[in-house]
Amino acid sequence: MCGIVGYIGKREAWPILIKGLERLEYRGYDSAGIALMESGAFSVYKKKGRVAELSKFVKNNKLSGGVGIAHTRWATHGVPSDRNAHPHVSNSGDIVIVHNGIIENYLAIKKILINKGYKFKSDTDTEVLANLIEDIKKNTKVSVEEAVRLALAEVTGAYAILVLSKDEPGTMVVAKVGSPAVIGVGKNEFFIASDATPIVEHTKKVVYLEDGEMATIETKKDKLTLKIKTILSKKTKSPYIQTLKTKMEELEKGGFPHFMLKEIFEQPESLRNTIRGRIILEKGNVKFGGLEKFSKELQNLKHLVITGMGTARFTGLIGEYAFEELSGIPTKVEYGSEFTYRKSADAQHTGLIAISQSGETADTLNAIKKAKQDKMLTLGIVNVIGSSIARIVDAGIYNHVGPETAVASTKASTSQAVLLVMLAVYLGRMRGLSKKSGEEILKEIQKLPELVEEVLKNAKSIQKIAEKYKKSPNFFFLGRKYCAGAAMEGALKLKECSYIHAEGCNAAELKHGPISLIDKNFPTLVIAPADSMYEKNKTHIEEIKARGGKVIALVSSGNPEMKEIADDVIYIPKTLEMLTPILAFIPMQLLAYYISVERGNDVDKPRNLAKSVTVE
Ligand code: GLU
Repeated sequence: MCGIVGYIGKREAWPILIKGLERLEYRGYDSAGIALMESGAFSVYKKKGRVAELSKFVKNNKLSGGVGIAHTRWATHGVPSDRNAHPHVSNSGDIVIVHNGIIENYLAIKKILINKGYKFKSDTDTEVLANLIEDIKKNTKVSVEEAVRLALAEVTGAYAILVLSKDEPGTMVVAKVGSPAVIGVGKNEFFIASDATPIVEHTKKVVYLEDGEMATIETKKDKLTLKIKTILSKKTKSPYIQTLKTKMEELEKGGFPHFMLKEIFEQPESLRNTIRGRIILEKGNVKFGGLEKFSKELQNLKHLVITGMGTARFTGLIGEYAFEELSGIPTKVEYGSEFTYRKSADAQHTGLIAISQSGETADTLNAIKKAKQDKMLTLGIVNVIGSSIARIVDAGIYNHVGPETAVASTKASTSQAVLLVMLAVYLGRMRGLSKKSGEEILKEIQKLPELVEEVLKNAKSIQKIAEKYKKSPNFFFLGRKYCAGAAMEGALKLKECSYIHAEGCNAAELKHGPISLIDKNFPTLVIAPADSMYEKNKTHIEEIKARGGKVIALVSSGNPEMKEIADDVIYIPKTLEMLTPILAFIPMQLLAYYISVERGNDVDKPRNLAKSVTVE
């Protein structure tokens, strides 16, 4: 997830672009860059680090140009560095591009271009697209607009791009699939950005580009015109101009009052990005580019240890069941902090899977260092590209969910859980999991984003439940099997956001002690989906009810009986047992969010917490 900005008009472009980047920095901040065009020549400046660095540089150097594009990056392909920063320039210097998204088939295209003699300066997928556009333009002698269109017809993946060509100085091409792009319509000037925040101070009139559409802004007799067409069919359509009424601070959070709620609602999209390009249905298998070189080592593994802290460890508990069920590899989950200080058993045949959103969690980093000393194979599931954990592990898988700003993890956690199940399929397929079974699981994974959308439609009813329980001083979260880890995550979410004392545990443990806490003031959320543990969970609920406890039951849609038993019922769609915790996460995130807000807490930055815990 990056931020892109473009300007074309009579004003000096750079102040508009730099300010725009500052507003979009929440979308990514590992490097920033700008390209300006003047008198048919480009000047490109890009730097690792935050927009402030670029801004200083640009202000100290007298730049000018009335056409420009800019970018603040959240790396997906290639570490954050000056050379991987956008904009990217094609070999001949004709094409300049900024891109938000992932070009899935970039490697195949890169190979073809290398064979034609193209040289690459960066590791990005974006530079490949820049050169593909140049190649098509050169060989077919078409306009930049048509070259972009033809190039996009060859790529798969997600993108919002801004493209300039030296040959056509008064033209800017915009296109989008999957990533956002908004065009601000001014008086003979246009502003383009990933969202409306860089635009509203200049104009309230905007056109939201739809998936599969491209826009071309052209100068004709000193007048700028905007035309929109579909990438594949070339069909033109007249731009639908809307007038924005939203306030600035709402826009920054995508219209949501807090980052946490925004990130909760981003989950259909973030899951799509996590899954993108990694499922090969016809093989009933998964493709993780980073793991390919280690296929032999992965085949030889006899044990797995999943390590992480907080949410990451709880998603690990979901992975534990999945690895054992699909790959038959005995798996345990361990705190990073504890793994570091205990003796490893059979290290030679053990693989360590380290999970960390930031990739900087000190406890987890230490666990990896220890595993490496013991000669274990180390794998990482990390969101931040080029982070310490990403660099130190033998092989890794990135979440690709973009920056997570709220301290309480939401979109990173659902992504971690789905990646663990996908990795379990991958290791399973090396060990006798049938193609058919792999295919069935992967088909369900593909449906997850839509199922999450369905769960999010119930946000209002969860808000009502939050109002009802907001004063409760205590809370239990219970679940069995795959959903036990989800229950622990639900409790963590509530305690970190609302400061309510909450315990999460395996529901089976209840009778062995915790049930003594139950009374009418101690509510329990029980995750009781229609799975192999449903009857057991129902019994747990009856046991709590028999002791006067209040129960919120999280059940599968179509459950006819729970509303007679529980005090409140939340429905989630049916999916496979191993994927259910991912859906169960969502209502619990919403519950924690709404209770926190009702109690007047700073939900994005709960007290005493930091987003990444870089001390032991
Ligand atoms: N894939 C591009 C890169 O890594 C864009 C990243 C993004 O939008 O997240 O540079």
